[in-house]
Amino acid sequence: MIKKFLPDQHVKSVFEISPEKLKSRGIKAIITDLDNTLVEWDRPNATPKLIKWFDDMKKNNIMITIVSNNNEERVKAFSEPHGIPFIFQARKPMGRAFRKALAQMGVKKEEVVVIGDQLLTDVFGGNRSGIHTILVVPVAKTDGFITKFNRQVERILLNWFRKKGMIQWED
Ligand SMILES: [Mg+2]
Repeated sequence: MIKKFLPDQHVKSVFEISPEKLKSRGIKAIITDLDNTLVEWDRPNATPKLIKWFDDMKKNNIMITIVSNNNEERVKAFSEPHGIPFIFQARKPMGRAFRKALAQMGVKKEEVVVIGDQLLTDVFGGNRSGIHTILVVPVAKTDGFITKFNRQVERILLNWFRKKGMIQWED
């Protein structure tokens, strides 16, 4: 059960994830979190570097859906300018939004990765749905109100995994 909180992979940022690497593993699509995964939770728009990352994925036919627990206003304003499909108020770690994203992109769970900065929502949700999960280091050191609580639980889980030798990376 506790292993459902353990990501399959860990990277410093989304920029370490390249279309070439994804394609070599048969991955056709990305389900990604928004806040503190793609940009800081309080930054309204994508950065030029992130826009380039989006374009790079698009050129390589890697589809992207943004799946966020945040509200419609935030997620829509961020995603729409780039023509990226999005699901707001996703209620991660519940599986419904992940299933919806798979159906919308017309891909199987084996052809997708879930990217996110939180163990309790993104990683747990992705793992429960049987999707390869990639944990990123949060873009910002700060968090929104609810996330602050989740981070405390997360720290306990990470310490446990580290003690058991299940993760190698540093904070
Ligand atoms: Mg997040």
